Amino acid sequence: MPADTSKGPPEEFRALYDHVVTCGKCGFCQPACPVFRATGREAYVARGKVALFRNMIEERAELGPEVKEAFANCLLCRACTENCFSAVKTDEVVMSFRHAYAERFGRGFLQRRVFRSLLPRPRLMRALVRSLWAVRRTGLADLARRVGLVGLLNPKLERAMEFRAGTPGPLLATRLAKRRGADSRGRPIVGYWMSCGYNYALPEVGEATVRVLERLGMGVEVLENCCCGLAAHGYGDVEAAAQLARENLRRLGDLDRFAAIVSECGSCSGHLKEYPKILAGDPEWSALAGRLAEKTRSFSEFVMERGGLEVPPGQEGGEAGSEDRIVVTYHDPCHLGRRYQNVVVQPRELLRALPGLELREAAESDSCCGAAGTYGVLHPETSAAIIARKMGFVEATGASVLVTECPACMMQLSFGAKRAGFDITVLNISQVCDRYGA
Ligand code: SF4
Ligand code: SF4
Repeated sequence: MPADTSKGPPEEFRALYDHVVTCGKCGFCQPACPVFRATGREAYVARGKVALFRNMIEERAELGPEVKEAFANCLLCRACTENCFSAVKTDEVVMSFRHAYAERFGRGFLQRRVFRSLLPRPRLMRALVRSLWAVRRTGLADLARRVGLVGLLNPKLERAMEFRAGTPGPLLATRLAKRRGADSRGRPIVGYWMSCGYNYALPEVGEATVRVLERLGMGVEVLENCCCGLAAHGYGDVEAAAQLARENLRRLGDLDRFAAIVSECGSCSGHLKEYPKILAGDPEWSALAGRLAEKTRSFSEFVMERGGLEVPPGQEGGEAGSEDRIVVTYHDPCHLGRRYQNVVVQPRELLRALPGLELREAAESDSCCGAAGTYGVLHPETSAAIIARKMGFVEATGASVLVTECPACMMQLSFGAKRAGFDITVLNISQVCDRYGA
């Protein structure tokens, strides 16, 4: 598609005008912004982006390559909005820019193919990812990584290929293939949502999750979902994100059979809860999108809703200072924490209740780790500076286990620990429950 370089602000920008003018330029968003902390660039702070956006609407600046970098440099973490008296939604401003920019200047062929043709077809995706892992030793997979194909297919896979020696073995979909049908035996059924990150790169996490859900007395049906669409959404490809949302709703079918849809990926559970907004204008799918959002739970949210894991009396969480306790610390994934799903208390309660563990809080535990979809791949230096700061806080806790609930965070945290030469085990909270729960 040839680039449409006609002048004038895109119509969709005007819809946000009344919102962006509420920015009082106070700068309270500045110290909270991980990108600003890493770069010191004012243009990358919410205030800078919002001012640029307003200038474009008022035709004092043009939508063009000169302003693109400011909007590319955003983790969509919402830390700015949380610190803003006017609650300016910088993430929406950034998303609107990314969408309009691609509409005007076109999307890359590879990006369109991946988001619109590959991601809605999980079988094809699996075959491709299997071959990428299989040919890794030939160097072809690394070539695919360098030209950007792997990052588009799945940013987590990109990170995994970067630091993981060897391959993860069979994909999660293969490992859980025998559990496809619901095996309720009178138990309530949960639909296990298979995140791309666990399926392609960290299958052992998904296996642990299913075991814990079964120990909670659930029948587990492994869903035949495709990518939730968050990656496409992050690129501002709202059409592809809506297509993926519809495809998932079609694949899931009747939701009434489920007590809940559970994911141990904070990004997936957060994005599923956004489906009603994504499909708001679609009369055919909006009601079902609402049903899915109501049923969706993050892993820790679901476990605590069911009363937590059973722990034998007298073996509750380790006392501070007790000798044989394992010290753990927790990182809040942006899409799970206070600024998106507000699942903050549940993972901590869960960890505190597990026998032999002592939870110690790290400073800035809810600050973005710098993974943020493809951000870590496209802005490696800034992303590395962001994770280095976080690892300093983690190290100060003295923890030997770093827990989180998102595959992208897990990989970024492992990457950060490796770079810092810091010996710490990074685990998903479902793995911790599997290992240390009753
Ligand atoms: S905190 Fe909010 S109002 Fe203040 S400069 Fe930042 S975006 Fe504008
Ligand atoms: S969303 Fe996060 S990275 Fe983006 S401007 Fe706000 S604080 Fe900075």
